[in-house]
Amino acid sequence: MPKGDFRVREVMAKSVLNPSRIGGVAYAINPYVGCQHACSYCYARFMSRYTGHQGERWGSFVDIKVNAARVLQQQLRRRRNPVRGSVLFSSVTDAYQPLERRYKVTRNCLELLRNHGVPVSVLTKSDLVLRDLDLLGEIPDTEVGMTVITLDEKVRRVFEAGAPPAERRVAALTECASQGIQTYAFVGPIIPYLSTPSLEDLISQLAESGVSYLFFDRLNIKYGNRLIIEEALRTAFPKQSHDILAALQQTSLYYPQLRTELEVIVRHHHLDADFLF
Ligand code: SF4
Repeated sequence: MPKGDFRVREVMAKSVLNPSRIGGVAYAINPYVGCQHACSYCYARFMSRYTGHQGERWGSFVDIKVNAARVLQQQLRRRRNPVRGSVLFSSVTDAYQPLERRYKVTRNCLELLRNHGVPVSVLTKSDLVLRDLDLLGEIPDTEVGMTVITLDEKVRRVFEAGAPPAERRVAALTECASQGIQTYAFVGPIIPYLSTPSLEDLISQLAESGVSYLFFDRLNIKYGNRLIIEEALRTAFPKQSHDILAALQQTSLYYPQLRTELEVIVRHHHLDADFLF
């Protein structure tokens, strides 16, 4: 966890199973509001505004939806038709952030989805997901994805201060795949010049882990992350910050050229990949 004040609240959710606009995902469950992983680039920080946390630093608070399993149970019972499509954990938080170890909100919801035979898609940065392999293994068509931006621990600590090292995430993917669970990796946001030196090695490790496919994404300046990213770059990477910010311009050729290079590496490893840039 990054240093500084941190506030945890237990809250009551009204709805837990919510329709999602993300492609290929029918519903999303967000067991928490806020995220201890505290990524400086996080696009979910806009949630502060809608959840009574206006003005609070993203990563400095987490609300725990302590009644989530009960609400989900009611929502599943009330449905006239079975849930079609998969349920994503999570779209605006990380369902396996450290507090999950104690509160088990995600696990309790997973148990219900397992009982109803609803396919689940997990996207996390934490190997805590391994705790729930027993449940995930019992849900048909389930997949586990890990987000990884670099193998470089210095870069990880600056941009994902509260998340586990990449090495543990790749090891978790290996373990999931060895248990017969489909896995994928979300490689992004790729930070110009900082992520790239370890990308080839990362892709090679992901291929060895047994992932079925990869997503690649660029770093986007949006949802109020500009100042935090600029501050992180100024403080930790002052010499590179100018070039990095230039590469983020929409007119820059940095990402198109990187994509070409990545396509070659991905082909070399016989992996399927989607590029979001
Ligand atoms: S893990 Fe995901 S939700 Fe949590 S801070 Fe990082 S990007 Fe945001």
